[in-house]
Amino acid sequence: MTGDVLHTTFHGIGVSAGTAVGPLVIVTPAPKAPTDEAPTTDAAAAADVVRGVLEDVAVGLEARAAKASDHARPILEAGAMMARDPGLAMGIENQLKAGKGPTTAVTAAVEEICVMFEALGGYMAERVTDLRDVRDRAVARLLGKPEPGVPTLTVPSILAAHDLAPAETATLTTETCLGIITEAGGPTSHTAILASQLGIPAVVQAVGIMAVPVGTRVAIDGGVGEITVNPTAEESAMLEERKRRRAAALAGGTGNGATKDGYPVALLANIGTADDARKAAKQPVEGVGLFRTEFLFLDRDTMPTVEEQTATYTEVFEAFGTRRIVVRTLDAGADKPLKFADLGPEENPALGRRGIRLGMIRTDVMDAQLEALAAAYKATGADVRVMAPMIATQAEATWFAEKVRALGLPKVGVMIEVPAAAIRSRGILYHVDFASLGTNDLQQYTMAADRMQGELADLLNPWEPALLDVVALACEGGQAMGKPIGVCGEAGGDPGLALVLAGLGVSSLSMAPGKVPAVRTALGLHTLTQCQQMAAAARAATDAAGAKAAVLKMADPVLADLF
Ligand code: PEP
Ligand code: MG
Repeated sequence: MTGDVLHTTFHGIGVSAGTAVGPLVIVTPAPKAPTDEAPTTDAAAAADVVRGVLEDVAVGLEARAAKASDHARPILEAGAMMARDPGLAMGIENQLKAGKGPTTAVTAAVEEICVMFEALGGYMAERVTDLRDVRDRAVARLLGKPEPGVPTLTVPSILAAHDLAPAETATLTTETCLGIITEAGGPTSHTAILASQLGIPAVVQAVGIMAVPVGTRVAIDGGVGEITVNPTAEESAMLEERKRRRAAALAGGTGNGATKDGYPVALLANIGTADDARKAAKQPVEGVGLFRTEFLFLDRDTMPTVEEQTATYTEVFEAFGTRRIVVRTLDAGADKPLKFADLGPEENPALGRRGIRLGMIRTDVMDAQLEALAAAYKATGADVRVMAPMIATQAEATWFAEKVRALGLPKVGVMIEVPAAAIRSRGILYHVDFASLGTNDLQQYTMAADRMQGELADLLNPWEPALLDVVALACEGGQAMGKPIGVCGEAGGDPGLALVLAGLGVSSLSMAPGKVPAVRTALGLHTLTQCQQMAAAARAATDAAGAKAAVLKMADPVLADLF
């Protein structure tokens, strides 16, 4: 942070490009029931108060539901129904009669129901998160505090939070949320990924932003990672000018991705849901380079049936017609645990039984998914390419390839996101048709830096020359085997890195659809030889900042406007 309180600049990491100016809204954390709460002496009166508060919570949730997206509406409506549930009111009354203070009574009654729901499993168990959200809202109101979580945005605002859960981020829309700023989070955290998926400018690691008063005017530049509190007229004008230059640089391009001299680099979309697929299919993208299927099931307690999965995959395939769709089998474990495919706690989940390792143990889960993908492929005849996450050895690659081919699926590939697979990509590619570089995990494992740990963000800068060296090794294997290698990690959506990656020999880049225009423009401004020279310069740098500076120096000046 630099400057005084009235006029301050924060520097974080820009994770979703775009600029905006608007009032700041703070996402408040959920308050806990105080441990020293006074006991209830008049249970009937206290029950009336709590009932009134729960009704207020229900009305608030309904009001948000009315304005929410299709995705978020049912979640909010379910919460309102729960707040009005007579069983909950009765449970709270019993706790009050036992002498507990109001917030303690609400907490205890909700926990009792949660235990019951969890024991029932299935749909009921999935309602536990909604019920705890109702509890947090009711406790906050009883304490006279604002409701926690993302408040209703009545005017277009910029949202600041310590961190945002992916579920909260998914409820935001570009109409009311102009920008997202978090104190925590890293460039490849799933909240950052969702923000760019939604096309909302975002900056993470903006330490101190929560101390800025609600309602203060702030300017956010999600490309360079800068936030200005109370911007001067001159600063706002500069931001506007940057916005105008960016829009001008992006205008016009809709064709297939290619360098200035025609070297093709397919520009593909990263998606996680059928809704993402419908939206992305309307954009000028050449297909899907990464369908993160685990995003479909993050809140599921039970395994979706083959029929249910087939229906979803069919919907996604149909949305893209003849365009390619690269589907990744479930990447469960580590930061994306799936309840129905959980192997229990591990010391180091990111180094544990995740991705293909879990798939090889839970073959029932893997087989059901592949069966559904094969059925959806047969039903649509789409250009489906199936790949596995976290491949480290040739044995894993052959195990997977045999399964996929046995089901008649036309193309099989692997993700290269473990350094071992990048170093020995030649052997791995021998068994499959293609590979896609998952630079998010490849970087986490190359640098031994947990991608979830915001404090390590400096080690997770995708311009890191060590990462580029590992990518280069993987690409050499691809060229030797004559097999295509793409990139589907966040690095692929960075217009400068896209040039470096093209120079290293990748044949496709997959990213949040909103990032495609900037990457298309960047490629179209440079020849393949220039990209190769930039790749060499970036690899010759001593650190990430040096690599980016070297590329910007060699690039067309318009590149700087694309961030
Ligand atoms: C990656 O690791 O780069 C990747 C694309 O997969 P995910 O971000 O889902 O782990
Ligand atoms: Mg990964």
